[in-house]
Amino acid sequence: MKDAAVQQNDPDITLITPSAPVATATHGGRAKCLQRLVRLDLPVPVTVALSFNAVHRIAAGEMPDTQALLEPFGGSLLCVRPSSEDPDWGGPGAVLNIGMNDATYVDLADLLGQEAAATLYLRFVQSYAVHVARLDPDMFDEITLTGQEGLSEALRLYEEEAEEAFPQDPGVQLAAVLRSMARAWEGTTARLLRQAKGAPADAGLGLVVQRMALGLGKGEGESGSGVIQLVSSQTGLEQITGRYLSQSQGRDALEGEAALFLERDPRGPSLQELAPDAFANLIEYTKLMRVRLRAEMQAEFTIENGKVWLLDGVRVQRSAQAAVRIAVRLAEDGIIPREEALMRIDPRALNELLHRQVDPDAKRDVLARGIAASPGAAHGAIVFSSAEAQAYDARGEACILVRRETSPEDIRGMNAAAAVLTERGGMTSHAAVIGRGLGLPCVVGASEMRFQTRKKTLTAPDGRVFREGEVITIDGTKGEVLAGEPALLAATQDDAFQTLMSWADEVRDIKVRANADTPADAKTARNFAAEGIGLCRTEHMFFEADRLTVMREMIFADRPEDRRAALDQLLPMQRADFTELFRIMQGKPVCIRLLDPPLHEFLPHDRAGHRELAEALDLPLSDVTRRVEALGEYNPMLGMRGVRLGVTVPEIYDMQARAIFEATIEASKDGDPVVPEIMIPLVSAKREVEIVKTRIDAVAAAVHTETGVAFSFRLGVMVETPRAALRAGEIAPHCAFLSFGTNDLTQMTYGLSRDDAGRFMSAYVQQGVYPEDPFHTLDADGVGELLQIGATRGRAAQPDLVLSICGEHGGSPESIAFCRAAGFDYVSCSPFRVPVARLAAAQLAARDKIG
Ligand code: PEP
Ligand code: MG
Repeated sequence: MKDAAVQQNDPDITLITPSAPVATATHGGRAKCLQRLVRLDLPVPVTVALSFNAVHRIAAGEMPDTQALLEPFGGSLLCVRPSSEDPDWGGPGAVLNIGMNDATYVDLADLLGQEAAATLYLRFVQSYAVHVARLDPDMFDEITLTGQEGLSEALRLYEEEAEEAFPQDPGVQLAAVLRSMARAWEGTTARLLRQAKGAPADAGLGLVVQRMALGLGKGEGESGSGVIQLVSSQTGLEQITGRYLSQSQGRDALEGEAALFLERDPRGPSLQELAPDAFANLIEYTKLMRVRLRAEMQAEFTIENGKVWLLDGVRVQRSAQAAVRIAVRLAEDGIIPREEALMRIDPRALNELLHRQVDPDAKRDVLARGIAASPGAAHGAIVFSSAEAQAYDARGEACILVRRETSPEDIRGMNAAAAVLTERGGMTSHAAVIGRGLGLPCVVGASEMRFQTRKKTLTAPDGRVFREGEVITIDGTKGEVLAGEPALLAATQDDAFQTLMSWADEVRDIKVRANADTPADAKTARNFAAEGIGLCRTEHMFFEADRLTVMREMIFADRPEDRRAALDQLLPMQRADFTELFRIMQGKPVCIRLLDPPLHEFLPHDRAGHRELAEALDLPLSDVTRRVEALGEYNPMLGMRGVRLGVTVPEIYDMQARAIFEATIEASKDGDPVVPEIMIPLVSAKREVEIVKTRIDAVAAAVHTETGVAFSFRLGVMVETPRAALRAGEIAPHCAFLSFGTNDLTQMTYGLSRDDAGRFMSAYVQQGVYPEDPFHTLDADGVGELLQIGATRGRAAQPDLVLSICGEHGGSPESIAFCRAAGFDYVSCSPFRVPVARLAAAQLAARDKIG
């Protein structure tokens, strides 16, 4: 190797040596990786790196001294490859065989054979014509001849189109290649493309100029090129994967059918049989890269007359499943610490393991986009009502429940459906919250489609009409509605996933609970190792058919004694609900929220429903209709709901408290002792808490007296009105915990309806009014300040106060960081988000630990 002193220490144009001033931030990832390979003494052909600055200057017309640049290569053929900071940002395609001209052709014909020399030259002429001279790619279509004749034809065509002979001077060729690659990077299309992948507007491009290791020729030894990696990109399990093609260059092996297997394989010939030494070297080099670069790498290689050269190393492409296994194996092999393995997995990527996904290789026919409200994918027949969804379910057929928006009456339909699609709503709308709770793929706010639920049709923006029974696919991870049934990949929580999660739990320092309303939710929560239930919304329990009528009777009761009679019927049902939840959670804390929604949500909304109710309650239809109307409110979310029910219709909370205490005694008899938590929703004033607390204490005393069994419980307040946060100092002394309900708190802080915001949210985010949907990402500035105030004032008044968040934000990594920094004890989120939250929380602690 010739030493070019000029290029040794020039930060802009440098020979890649172990000590050269090369960095990812200035020369790009490829240049840096090549330096690492050089440091490992691996066989890398001579390479010169051009920095972002140098390339930027080239684009502006300021060319470097090409003769000096050529010096270290001693007349060999060259290739130029892009080296951006992040490989995902792309870059112009590599140009191979620079330096080919009539003279080298003659030399190489002697060395490699005429056929190989002609192939190299032809290839260079073609790629130069298209990428550098910007000639029409079709111009070579006519060439049918091969070898020297094909080459002569190509050179003639070039001269004709370019109106000049093909350049013969390697310096001129190299300069032209560098200029064209530099300019391609600075073009508008390329910039927009990489910005879409997250690159900053001023992202730089580095270039590497490398001696071509020739994969062609008639030498004694084997020649060819290929790629190799030691694991499967799909599973992350050990598996020698890649392709090799004799007499080839670049990534030819990946394109042609003729490629060989690497390892001996019953399906066909392999590199291991063809060139056992080269194969053994490759395995050794790739293993060394894994250990020393501390990452699973794919190597691009060329075998030149029997000798292996490494041209490039990139991180192995990987699915989420593979990413987890790769990180865990690196840690288990002592290559990286466990904390680092944790840091290498994007918590949100775990969703891919927790839910079925559309196969990334499947063809996607996207009908429309909406909000990605609950991850996972499913296909099924379109149905427009919950009743129809249940009918499909009963027949064992998958269906997609399509509604303008869902209401509590749709819960059973949602349970029966494989996925849900709504026209309206945002991240905290009913469909979204329930969808996430059930682990059901869900797209909401798909308002670019036309929903005609009466006519039972769904019309895509391109005019395609779908009728009931026709099959579509919901991709809740991407927020897309797809036509037909693209292939799905199953959820996989393998042993590597379990290992990673156990490491996460070892370092994590904030607890994670689940929002779970039903036994099924609670089981999911427990399977995902939730440390309790942080929010059990009890209203869902009253929508079961047998209870709804009794509930309605209770709502219609005029006199307290009639109300109590109806509640007496509900009591054993609630007791059984809670007993089951406590048993499933095996002594872990369960926080039960007292009834929250406005009562009219439990009443039927159409005439047929009114008639049914009139029959059930033995009342005249007009009576029922009048009463339903009377219960209607202009603004129900700010009306008679939450603790306001507890103050004005206290018998409901009395019944629930009794059910909780009796269930506590029941479940503690034969299982782990239970200490229930009771949470009062929608509090805005201290006095509300005092009133409810007095009654609950009285119920506890009564149950104690009646049963003779001692038990304890914790009473707390859900902070979901701005006033409760501001007045936390006077509320906290009355309770054991405060849990921030950030769904309502966001709604009330912004004055923004959580059910209607979906309609204009994308416009708001696009125009930068809000940086993100605040129902999706906690608004750390405004809502966050209220959380901070509530936490500080609450803790000042009551130092033992347990603090938590139970709104939908509880599962997102940003909110967990916020809550942890604010000294919260736990976050609570939908069961399927529990693993995501556990990992996100672990990363925060690990980051602190690593420093
Ligand atoms: C909240 O408001 O944040 C909350 C958790 O309760 P819900 O979503 O049931 O209103
Ligand atoms: Mg709420």
